Amino acid sequence: LCEREGWLWNNGDWLPWREAKTHMLTHTLHYGMGCFEGVRSYEGPNGAHLFRVAEHTRRLLDSAHALDMPLAWSAERLIDAQRECLRRNDLTNAYLKPTVYFGAESMGLRATGLTTNVMIAAWDLGDYISASAARQGLRALTSSWARHHVNISLCRAKTNGHYVNSMLALNTAIKAGFDETLMLDPEGYVAEASSANVFLLRDGVLHTPEVTSCLQGITRDSVIRLAREVLGLQVHERRITRDELYTADEAFLTGTAAEILPLRELDGRRIGRAGETIDQDSVTARLQHLYRRVTRAELGDDLTGFRDWLTAI
Ligand code: PMP
Repeated sequence: LCEREGWLWNNGDWLPWREAKTHMLTHTLHYGMGCFEGVRSYEGPNGAHLFRVAEHTRRLLDSAHALDMPLAWSAERLIDAQRECLRRNDLTNAYLKPTVYFGAESMGLRATGLTTNVMIAAWDLGDYISASAARQGLRALTSSWARHHVNISLCRAKTNGHYVNSMLALNTAIKAGFDETLMLDPEGYVAEASSANVFLLRDGVLHTPEVTSCLQGITRDSVIRLAREVLGLQVHERRITRDELYTADEAFLTGTAAEILPLRELDGRRIGRAGETIDQDSVTARLQHLYRRVTRAELGDDLTGFRDWLTAI
């Protein structure tokens, strides 16, 4: 990933991709305190655009504020930098990773005088999600690792250090031959997947965990709004148990990179009547279709209300 052409934004400067290096004593590398975003851009009929970049940038600033990492950059300036990052690197269908990190001015937990830095990298996403995964869905294993608790970490912040827990759970599931992991909160209620939120459908009503242990996903919010406002469905945010997922009619995961992926099987139980591919009349397939259209700026009459989710680059 390091050996390629391109430009990377760091504290207002454009660095050639290969030269974008940081010191070994960068504080965030040692203690995991930092925060980041994962943002997507798409090619639309009128050129490329960022999807919900204002919400992602706000979450980044909120994460930095909650971590007490004071940032010198406004949301407007960071959004401009993300747009320019795509233009300079000639990207359309891309993934952007703005990251806030402490510098290498000092070591230890009591370090003082640390600078807060921001960098933005972007790369072509290609077919991150295979069409077959989107149709066939994933097989997941419930993890023995609990997800974070509000009294252990800042669950609303997208903090670098949180992903140690995600990777422990994901790697265990992958080694056991599964595609994903389902993580429960410390009390045993459903939280989220390793880097995606989870939804279930039962009797035509959608349910998703309330935002306590899970990240307040922006795709989660997009799906809730599309389900309510376009499909006229009820969506409940509440505590969910794993057996509710076993017995759901449908279940799916949501995330910026993953978009909407069906959950076909959990702990060896097939979810709903899912065959080899998901039914095109299912709520999951209808939401996938709506999400696809809204992200690619294919806004018909039913979706014009969502135009402000798109920012031209
Ligand atoms: N939960 C976790 C732990 C994540 O890393 C992500 C990906 N950012 C999500 C949920 C989904 O969030 P979003 O829809 O904002 O990408």
